[in-house]
Amino acid sequence: MEFAGKLALVTGAASGIGLAVTRLLVRGGARVMAADLEAGKLATLAAELGPAVQTCVVDLADPAAVEPVVHAAIAALGGLDILINNAGIGSLARATELDPAEWRKVMAIDLDAVFLASRAALPTLIERRGAIVCTASISGMAGDYRFTAYNAAKAGLIGLVRNLAVDYAADGVRVNAVSPGYTRTPLTAPSRPEVKAAFIDAVPMRRAAEPEEIAEVIAFLASDRASYLTGQNIAVDGGMTAHTGQPDVFALRARLGASASS
Ligand code: NAD
Repeated sequence: MEFAGKLALVTGAASGIGLAVTRLLVRGGARVMAADLEAGKLATLAAELGPAVQTCVVDLADPAAVEPVVHAAIAALGGLDILINNAGIGSLARATELDPAEWRKVMAIDLDAVFLASRAALPTLIERRGAIVCTASISGMAGDYRFTAYNAAKAGLIGLVRNLAVDYAADGVRVNAVSPGYTRTPLTAPSRPEVKAAFIDAVPMRRAAEPEEIAEVIAFLASDRASYLTGQNIAVDGGMTAHTGQPDVFALRARLGASASS
């Protein structure tokens, strides 16, 4: 039981990657405070995982709500060893078409809430020599068309992870990020089949990640097995960020009907 006796707070726990992480932590013996905007999905999660999970409805877009959730989790669990900053939203607009209110909302959830939750949790994490893992994105590592706010927030998050790792390493707190590539979750589910196919076509492994494949790496980073690992951002992306983006010349030639040797 890798997480026996460990106490964890997971944000965005009711769905997708956060749900998969919560399941892994609980199966490993942790007790978890699952925080999310969606009360109904949290109730389903609690029914599935039983008394090892407590739930908390919160809107992380509200900066005043973040610190109280962390303090409530510490009070309810009796401490905190692991903070998983996972909640996040996307947004699609070029800068000239992006409503500043939408920019602010993405920043509030994807970046500000991570700062505020980490800030509130750190004193307890220092006492217990704990760990923070943040769900960033490959979209924080390069630019995407019309991902203006999301690109900026996730890049900022990766920078924050490096800063926190350096500042609190000597206090025994490890801080890391996981950057998923295209992952099959409710966040990506509404896309049309042609859009999904286009995303998958860009991935060297030619498939989306399952949320459990991302959760495995998050859980590893949260565990004592990653005891000398801090300040890192691990892309879990089927090879996406290893690729320059240039086409497969042989596949292109085959599609164009030309000889592979020409
Ligand atoms: P998801 O939509 O399935 O889960 C996100 C969860 O966050 C949901 O349960 C949602 O209710 C919660 N949430 C959203 N806004 C909130 C708020 N204001 N307050 C509290 N909770 C809120 O999506 P997912 O794909 O599991 O995303 C999890 C993380 O992974 C996000 O940070 C996302 O940016 C990141 N990510 C996802 C992908 C992907 O392809 N799915 C790729 C890269 C990064």
